[in-house]
Amino acid sequence: MTVVPHTSVAQDWKEFIIPAAAPYYKEPLVLVEGSGSRVTDAEGREYLDFFCGILTTGIGHCHPEVVERVREQAGRLGHTSTLYLNEPQVNAARRLAGIAPGKLKKTFFTNSGTEAVETAVMLARMYTGRDEIIALRYGYSGRSTLGTSLTAMSGWTPLGASVPWVKHALSPYCYRCAFGPPHDDCAERYARDVEEVIATTTSGKPAAFFAETIQGAGGYIVPPPGYFKLVAEIIRKHGGLFIADEVQAGFGRTGDKWFGIEHWGVEPDIMVMAKAIASGYPVGATIARDDVAAAWKGKTISTFGGNPITMTAMDATIEVMERENVPVRSAERGRQLRAGLDALGRQYEWIGDVRGMGMMQALELVEDRKSKTPSPAKAGALLEAAKKEGLLIGSGGLNGHVIRIAPQMLMSAAEIDEGLGRLERACRAVG
Ligand code: PMP
Repeated sequence: MTVVPHTSVAQDWKEFIIPAAAPYYKEPLVLVEGSGSRVTDAEGREYLDFFCGILTTGIGHCHPEVVERVREQAGRLGHTSTLYLNEPQVNAARRLAGIAPGKLKKTFFTNSGTEAVETAVMLARMYTGRDEIIALRYGYSGRSTLGTSLTAMSGWTPLGASVPWVKHALSPYCYRCAFGPPHDDCAERYARDVEEVIATTTSGKPAAFFAETIQGAGGYIVPPPGYFKLVAEIIRKHGGLFIADEVQAGFGRTGDKWFGIEHWGVEPDIMVMAKAIASGYPVGATIARDDVAAAWKGKTISTFGGNPITMTAMDATIEVMERENVPVRSAERGRQLRAGLDALGRQYEWIGDVRGMGMMQALELVEDRKSKTPSPAKAGALLEAAKKEGLLIGSGGLNGHVIRIAPQMLMSAAEIDEGLGRLERACRAVG
């Protein structure tokens, strides 16, 4: 046996990890502890977390109730596979059915958003007996072959879109509107594009329309009011299902509602979730109506899906979210956050757009407001400057030029102000 000597985390990372996922920062952060709104690095420096490890620690790091229940479950039973039943799984599923919109009721559990997306598309194809899926440009849907094909940002699809039956309609990206100068019928125009994609690039018989309710990795692109309602009518008219991806926007993130799609008055046929669902423990969930769920044909298993430990984390997470009324808190703190970001937007010419809902807010950074040329350099500089100020924020967008801000949803008003102060100092440092 060769004993490989340990040097440093950064050095070992270079030596032993396939460098496929690039960490943030010139000097990547090594995190060793987290509690509530804060994390600590290996040097003992504390950071206020305005990104939650990509919107995942939605009720904060190491929430005591989640930790306690996970600890207890880990000592009792750690694994069953899908061959046996376990109580934490049905508890989590029942709790999810209680907050899911409309008739969504039956869940299949996996371990990631990617798998939840895969499951949803498989189910839609089985239910309809069709293949074609209409997704949106600027979308992000995971790292599998299908996930990268649904995804429509070249940086995330290094091998290209491999699945031929996925077609992409325009993203309802109002800041960079495909239809030119401002107009008041953008929802109709973008919805018409979905219809045109069906008519011109498919057999006319699509299995489903698939979209994030706010495009996350794309840079928190919020569709215009009315868009999803029109698209739902169009896809159903053509015999397809409506699949909502709530991996980022779900669990109160958008404020007032549990799920993003509820803002748009559409009842999805299938919904996919992950990230904040279990406070960072690996859970992907695909929920469907009874009749859709019943369409599953053939065998399937998920060795780790529905694991008693991760299911306990999910059950505890949603229990806390319900008790704390997370959607309402997210709306309140979100308004405070947004007011601070709007003020920054007025101050800096290179902040082209401030947008988002609830505790999911973005700054689109540009060279100047007139040209709207994306500025990934400014975004990189702001990320580094915020780190220096002890604040973690995220980036996104097609060119990595959008700053994504998504603090944990139980954050106090004082912590939001503290974070805004740090962000303001970081903006000043960027100039
Ligand atoms: N859908 C959306 C909207 C996402 O943001 C992501 C992850 N960024 C996924 C799917 C894939 O989730 P995972 O990384 O857990 O596979």
